[in-house]
Amino acid sequence: MRIADYSVTRAVLERHGFTFKKSFGQNFLTDSNILQKIVDTAEINQDVNVIEIGPGIGALTEFLAEQAAEVMAFEIDDRLIPILADTLRDFDNVQIINEDILKSDLQAHIEAFADPSLPIKVVANLPYYITTPILMHLIESRIPFVEFVVMMQKEVADRISAGPRTKAYGSLSIAVQYYMMAKLAFVVPKTVFVPAPNVDSAILKMTRRQEPLVEVKDEDFFFRLTKIAFAHRRKTLWNNLISYFGKSEETKAQLKDSLERAGISPSVRGETLSISDFAALADALKGSGL
Ligand code: SAM
Repeated sequence: MRIADYSVTRAVLERHGFTFKKSFGQNFLTDSNILQKIVDTAEINQDVNVIEIGPGIGALTEFLAEQAAEVMAFEIDDRLIPILADTLRDFDNVQIINEDILKSDLQAHIEAFADPSLPIKVVANLPYYITTPILMHLIESRIPFVEFVVMMQKEVADRISAGPRTKAYGSLSIAVQYYMMAKLAFVVPKTVFVPAPNVDSAILKMTRRQEPLVEVKDEDFFFRLTKIAFAHRRKTLWNNLISYFGKSEETKAQLKDSLERAGISPSVRGETLSISDFAALADALKGSGL
């Protein structure tokens, strides 16, 4: 029997008198086949340490602990800590950390792995209300995670993995793809969770690039430009640029000159630009003094 088996999950929840907290994004997985597929997608073995975010009652943690060297799981909800001590009592390679992942000093924690030199993968069924902040928090930490295999709302997985000239493509696609190669691994139906969420889910596999996808002079400015270009999706790039930078003749001349130098027509929409186009434009704008 597995923690994820519906009858075991129900029994655990009842034994501990646990009630779901919607504000923590609590939708627990009750399908062992899907959990095995997640662990297979992440290619977990004894030479890998795993960080899990939001273990819940330990459905995924159980699978991870069986296959990884060590698992460190961050859980915000105090009420789940005694439950996890119960459900995962047979494992001595799991550490549960009762902290909000967004406030956690990850670097300090990972030094506590028995073998901190092993590659670290992040595997999780994420709380959907903070998927993007969690991903950005992990990506922007200086920790060299080799891979993320995480479940999220399908719509967010589509946005992250989207390419130019699609509706889903935007600043989030670029923010993640700059650092990681992102691929949608498989879709998960609502019916395998308790309680069932309102949306479909997907597993996204993101593998860290050796180097960021493009080289830019100023990363903050590059990311800001991607947000500016998608601020109003129906507007042209030009209109988004002048709404942000201003309409003075001098600014317009600088914008025109930068677009020309980057080889981009002002009448296109942001969604037609590749990540290299954004890099070229960011560098040209920076060079023009904007
Ligand atoms: N891994 C379990 C599973 O698959 O059944 C539970 C996944 S559930 C979608 C998300 C989990 O993340 C919940 O246990 C929730 O309490 C926890 N959580 C929510 N916000 C968190 C945060 N900021 N830091 C750490 N854990 C969080």
